[in-house]
Amino acid sequence: MNRIDVAGRAVAPSKILCVGRNYVRHIEELGNEIPDQMVVFAKPNSAIGHRLYATRDGEPLHYEGEIALLVEGGRYSAAAFGLDLTRRKLQGELKNRGLPWERAKAFDGAALFGPFTPFDGSVNRLSLRLTINGEERQAGSVGLMIYKPAFILEELSRVFTLEDGDIVMTGTPAGVGPVEPGADFEGTVYAADAPLCSAHWAAEP
Ligand code: ZN
Repeated sequence: MNRIDVAGRAVAPSKILCVGRNYVRHIEELGNEIPDQMVVFAKPNSAIGHRLYATRDGEPLHYEGEIALLVEGGRYSAAAFGLDLTRRKLQGELKNRGLPWERAKAFDGAALFGPFTPFDGSVNRLSLRLTINGEERQAGSVGLMIYKPAFILEELSRVFTLEDGDIVMTGTPAGVGPVEPGADFEGTVYAADAPLCSAHWAAEP
């Protein structure tokens, strides 16, 4: 089982539950429709990676920076910066044919996380920022989410048993794009505007 770091503890999530299309400007940049029901997909534990690669089976990967929330005891206990890596071209083909997305989003290494850090105060005050080679590419906050973390937890709990250590990825703001080999990714999650935790990856070919 792959493990993540939670304030120095090694935790093995059974699954990662991801919300798609949760920021209006990102929905627009991909030309998708605003969903009338929360879009959910899952990544297994085996999707958790530690290194950022620019391609998978010859296809360039796209990054999606997201606020990742750890679930313990039925509530959110910590946050991390996460990357939801996507084979965008393959995902488009699968979507067009009405097929599931796992080949495009649930492969080995499709989910990367910085260290999870417990936060004080409301989950509603979390925000994120991703810089690539020092330039801001993505910025977002819970305030901009269509579905807020409390609703996400309630809705997911109707469908899935949330086990201790499971991770919720809350969707990506606008600014997604291809991972360029050699690019320097720095993602930060803020709690009430103060940096909470960061993640850093150098993209490998
Ligand atoms: Zn995503």
